[in-house]
Amino acid sequence: MDVMALIQQALDASTKLRELAKKVGDAEFKMLLADLHSALADAKLESGELKMKLAATQEQVLSLQQQLAQREQSKPIYTDEGVYSFNGENGRFCTGCWDLNQRKVRLAAIPEDFQFAGKWECPGCNAHYGGEI
Ligand SMILES: [Zn+2]
Repeated sequence: MDVMALIQQALDASTKLRELAKKVGDAEFKMLLADLHSALADAKLESGELKMKLAATQEQVLSLQQQLAQREQSKPIYTDEGVYSFNGENGRFCTGCWDLNQRKVRLAAIPEDFQFAGKWECPGCNAHYGGEI
């Protein structure tokens, strides 16, 4: 059973006891009953707050799980050309820029006459790719 419902049940029982106490008329009994009733009311309030906090936390966990899944999906693939490729995106990407800063920098093709150091160049860090090894 839900904790809120359990506390409510206890509160209801304590209310009935209060009614009974009016007939009994013992002062100490009445005082103890009043203490019990207020403790239960506090517990109800507290568990209501906990319930809200739990819901907020669950929402946060869900959002973090989604972020994680998204991050996993956007991980690069290291190709035979020594560059990165990303799912669903055209072109070749710089490995250095991603590994160091998680920056997706698309490599630019170098004109054939200027391919001394490689076929592609990173506009972010000027690294060359596709050169002779
Ligand atoms: Zn780069």
